[in-house]
Amino acid sequence: MKLHLYNIGNFKIDGGAMFGVIPKVLWSRVYSADENNLIQLTLRSLIVETNGHVILVDTGWGEKQDEKFFRHVHKSGGEGLIQGLINRGYNPEDVTDVFFTHLHADHCGGGVKRKEEGIGYDLTFPKATYHVSRKQWEWAVRNNLREADSFLEENILPVEQSGHLNLIDEEGEIFPGFSLLICYGHTPGLMIPVIRYKDKTIVYTGDLIPTSAHIPLIWNMSYDIESLKTIEEKEKLLKKALEQNYILVFQHDQNVECCNLEMTPKGIRPKEKFSFSAIF
Ligand SMILES: [Zn+2]
Repeated sequence: MKLHLYNIGNFKIDGGAMFGVIPKVLWSRVYSADENNLIQLTLRSLIVETNGHVILVDTGWGEKQDEKFFRHVHKSGGEGLIQGLINRGYNPEDVTDVFFTHLHADHCGGGVKRKEEGIGYDLTFPKATYHVSRKQWEWAVRNNLREADSFLEENILPVEQSGHLNLIDEEGEIFPGFSLLICYGHTPGLMIPVIRYKDKTIVYTGDLIPTSAHIPLIWNMSYDIESLKTIEEKEKLLKKALEQNYILVFQHDQNVECCNLEMTPKGIRPKEKFSFSAIF
């Protein structure tokens, strides 16, 4: 198995929304905000090469929406979705499997691109099967007022029309060493990849624990559809991760790629913070 992690790019989001009920005096000590109260997040994607498969987990925003849409996103830096793959020796045609943790626009937008000529859309990874949980798919295509800005038709429907969509019903092992947990608090059917690499277990925590600052149980995003469920799901994962010395990988943390955990008087907290490459 070969593993890679790369930052597609950074974007900005309201710090208050990202930390829910936690007052700014507290969260701003651990995650800095700019003069507009925006904080910078990364879009780290995971590549897993195993058993003849090249798996890509999440694809960033993509580029299909207009300037007005992206004005609020404040994109900067990063390697870019395709360039990041190329930098690690892969072309888009090499990707056999794309996993969307969920269908919010910053996670799946890059999977579909505008056709080079004319109207319509193509898959960015033409040979890949695109995997989404059935719960998330059904939830997203039905859409709802609360998540309407995040579930964008042009990111989602072309995947179904391409015939490359695979819906996942249950959590568990998908490929040797590559398993999924399915969560419901952030949005129903959020898939969390768990990778078994030699004697290590690596969890790509996605939007369940978007940054290392979200490890305390009540430090949650106000985007979560069901906060109490998020707390329950985090507690269960963090306990197991502590017991079995899992490595957590953060998709959105501008400062921290990975950490392991320790128990403190305040609860489970990061022990050592390190880069993804330090795992190997
Ligand atoms: Zn999300």
